[in-house]
Amino acid sequence: MVTVIQAYRFALDPNPRQRRALASHCGAARYTYNWSLQLVQARLNQRQTDPAVQIPWTLPALRREWNQAKHQVAPWWAENSKEAYASGLDGLARALKNWTDSRSGRLKGRPVGFPRRKRKGRCRDACRFTTGAIRVLEDRKHVQLPRIGVLKTHESTRKLARRLEQDTARILAATISRQADRWFVSFTVEVNRAIPADNRKTSVVGVDAGIRQLAVLSSGVVAPNPYALQRSLRKLRRLNRELHRRQPHSRRRNQTRRRLARVHARAANLRHDALNKLTTTLATQFGTIVVEQLDLAGLVRNRCLARALSDAGLAELRRQLTYKTTWYGSRLIVADRFYPSSKTCSACGWVKTKLTLAERTFACEACGLRLDRDLNAARNLAKLAQDVAQSGWETQNACGADRKTQSAGQVAMKREPSSLQPQRA
Ligand SMILES: [Zn+2]
Repeated sequence: MVTVIQAYRFALDPNPRQRRALASHCGAARYTYNWSLQLVQARLNQRQTDPAVQIPWTLPALRREWNQAKHQVAPWWAENSKEAYASGLDGLARALKNWTDSRSGRLKGRPVGFPRRKRKGRCRDACRFTTGAIRVLEDRKHVQLPRIGVLKTHESTRKLARRLEQDTARILAATISRQADRWFVSFTVEVNRAIPADNRKTSVVGVDAGIRQLAVLSSGVVAPNPYALQRSLRKLRRLNRELHRRQPHSRRRNQTRRRLARVHARAANLRHDALNKLTTTLATQFGTIVVEQLDLAGLVRNRCLARALSDAGLAELRRQLTYKTTWYGSRLIVADRFYPSSKTCSACGWVKTKLTLAERTFACEACGLRLDRDLNAARNLAKLAQDVAQSGWETQNACGADRKTQSAGQVAMKREPSSLQPQRA
C-alpha cells in the first residue's frame, strides 16, 4: 500500500442561491488576495524610509493583519466562510514565497514576477476549504461544504465514496472552481493505493506523440488527435468577432462572452478526455512505455507550431503517463531529448543527417526501408527499451520516472509557505 495524493473532481448542479454563494466565496478569496497584496506593497514602500516596518509575508502574519482589519475594510465578512478569506491570503503567501524563492535561485525555471492584482472576470474563480464540514454524502449524489451547505453533484461521486467507505481515502481539502458557467468541486484526497510492483507484462511500446496524430504507437496503432481546439476554431473566430461588435457592458456582450467560454471549455474537455483514455490504455496494456522528452518550451516558441502543440497537450500526456505507470505497475522510460528517434532507420540503424518536418515518410538510404515518419520514430523508441534493459533500469529511472516516488504532484497538504522575509533590494 502506498499513499498518494489524488484529486477527485465533480461537476456541481447548484441552485441559484448556491450559485451566488459559490461566486461570493470566490469573490471573497479574490478580495483578500488583492487587499493583502496592497498591504504588502504599502509596507514595502514604508520600509524605504523606516527599516523597522514589519511586512506580513507568511500566511499566519497575513491572517493576523486580516483579522484585525476585516471589521473595518470588509464589514460583510461574516457572509462567507472564513476559509474563503484564508484561501485568498494563502494564495498571496504562496505567490510571495515563489517570488523570493525564484530570486534566490531556489526555484528553478523561468523567473517568477512579483504578485499582481487579480481581476474579476480575468482571474480564475476558485476557493479552497481545508477545515470544517467537508463531506461526500452517502447517497453519492451530494457533497457538503462549510457555509455553502449540501450541493447536488452533476455526476455520481461513486469512485470517491467507495474509497471513503472502505477507509482507503481521507479528504484533505476541497476546492470550488468555475469553468465557463459550470461549477466544480475538487477534493484533494490522500489515497492508499495497492500499487503492483509489476503488471506482469513484457510488452514494450514506443510512443511518438505528435501534432498530426495524438500518438503513433510502435505496434502501428494510431491514436487520432481530436484536434479539439482546431475543430472549434471556426466557432471561436465567429464568436470573437461577435464579441468585438457588442456594446461594452451590455447584456448581449455578456451573453456572447459566456458562449465563447463554453466553446473553450468544450475544447479543453475533448482534449482532456482523449489524453486520459490514451494514457490509461498505455499504462494498463503494456509493461514498458517509451516516450521522447520534448523541449516543449522551445517548440511552443515556434509560432507555427505553438497552437497545434498546446492543443495536443503533449506535456499533459507525459504527466499522466508518469503517475499512471506508477499506479498500474508499468514502467516509463523517457528518451533523452537528443536521441535521434526520427532520423534513425528502425530496421538497420542508419542515421539520416537531415530530416525536415515536412518529410512525412522516412526513406532509408542504406536498406531501402520506407516507413511513416512517426511510426519509424515510435519503433526506435521501443528499441531503446531493449538497450536500457541491458544496461540496467536504474540509469533510466533517474529521468524522473521512478515508480517508487510518490506522485504527489503539486498539491500541498497544509498552508505553510516558508517563514522567509523578503530580501531588501
Ligand atoms: Zn535502414
